Amino acid sequence: MKKEIQAITDMEVDFTQWYTDIVKKADLADYSTVKGCVILRPYGYAIWELIKAELDRRFKDTGHENVYMPMFIPESLLQKEKDHVEGFAPEVAWVTHGGATRLTEKLCVRPTSETLFCEHYASIIQSYRDLPKLYNQWCSVVRWEKTTRPFLRTTEFLWQEGHTAHATREEATEETIRMLNVYIDVCKNALSIPVISGQKTEKEKFAGAVDTYTIESLMKNGYALQSGTSHYFGDGFAKAFDITFTDENNKLQYVHQTSWGMSTRIIGALIMVHGDNSGLVLPPAVAPIQVVVVPIASHKEGVAEKAAELANRLKSVARVKIDDSDKKPGWKFSEYEMKGVPIRLEIGPRDIEENTVVLARRDNGEKITVPMDALEAKVTELLEDISKNLYESAQKNLAEKTYTARDLDEYAEIAASKNGFIKAMWCGDEACEISLKEKFATTSRCMPFCGEKIGDTCVCCKKPAQKLVYWGKAY
Ligand SMILES: [Zn+2]
Repeated sequence: MKKEIQAITDMEVDFTQWYTDIVKKADLADYSTVKGCVILRPYGYAIWELIKAELDRRFKDTGHENVYMPMFIPESLLQKEKDHVEGFAPEVAWVTHGGATRLTEKLCVRPTSETLFCEHYASIIQSYRDLPKLYNQWCSVVRWEKTTRPFLRTTEFLWQEGHTAHATREEATEETIRMLNVYIDVCKNALSIPVISGQKTEKEKFAGAVDTYTIESLMKNGYALQSGTSHYFGDGFAKAFDITFTDENNKLQYVHQTSWGMSTRIIGALIMVHGDNSGLVLPPAVAPIQVVVVPIASHKEGVAEKAAELANRLKSVARVKIDDSDKKPGWKFSEYEMKGVPIRLEIGPRDIEENTVVLARRDNGEKITVPMDALEAKVTELLEDISKNLYESAQKNLAEKTYTARDLDEYAEIAASKNGFIKAMWCGDEACEISLKEKFATTSRCMPFCGEKIGDTCVCCKKPAQKLVYWGKAY
């Protein structure tokens, strides 16, 4: 059937343009007059609200509380932790005036809020009884980026940042991994996105962290996307900000801290992991509309009424929208395909006569005829099956685009001809990491927890290898 709305660029022709087309034509976001900042449109924002709900529920289930900090950080506060300020200073936005008056101390617009949480923790934590502190903040942050793309990299973006303080190293390490597992769970069970999880190298870790853990997903074009991170800080920030408590033996101790974050970047991953040449494909858990009801020949007697009745019935099992506008059905089909709505329900005079409806799946295009009596059960079953199928397809893409390089020739050949994860051994020397980046534009994505071994020598310098690393081209 002819597409009734303007087609988008095929991903095989121009992946970047395909992505931009979906952002615009699925009504996710629009550009604003402020360079590098985007407007999240209602449909895009609704997806974020659903992702947020999935995360927030799990944060609360693991004992966390939401708080809100100011958006400004005084310069002196940002400078307290040396590595942290060095990491963020180049991309910080500064406020120098309040009205016409020059401020005595300039304020940065938060690029992340470790320093504010630390200052607050220093004032509210006194005893071991005050620990742990398990706080999370939903907010926007600002990082002055040179090149920007909707969701993937914007000057201001929405996220959550968890900040916790603990009595011991063990508790803080446990928390770091617990929250990484929350991200893995949300990716798998709500977003149908498989990830590789592990640790970042020294070069790629967060400014001020002892250890950074990451989840990395793989897009349909073979590019990696860092999808969530969790950091263990040790007592470095505690020492810089003097966050101490008296333990059970009345001895003064420094707290051990963590932070962890996931942002609207993950919507970029949703687009590029599941999308196709007809547009967005949404996993049901984060689809603002899970079923769209499209009446066929709605001028015929009883059709509009039956469509409304079925939509109403389905509200008990799904987020439903009925489109009874005067657009042609074909136009509606294309529009909801573009928006990635998981199931389309078609109902026309013949269906009414036969007491059936037609259900069309967005993920694989399959159309089935279902008895009206079984509608709720069938929709519930289909939504579950779509989630599972999307995960399996993404898993297949990840597996197919994961390569192994045992020496530099193999590495060079893969990097030159394919996009995807390259598994290769590494000596631990930053010089090799820099060399692989300069020669092949591949960065170390993560050192997986599984600790698999595929050789004894570094893929770059042939010295004894320390770790297996997933390398790749990344957003
Ligand atoms: Zn090496």
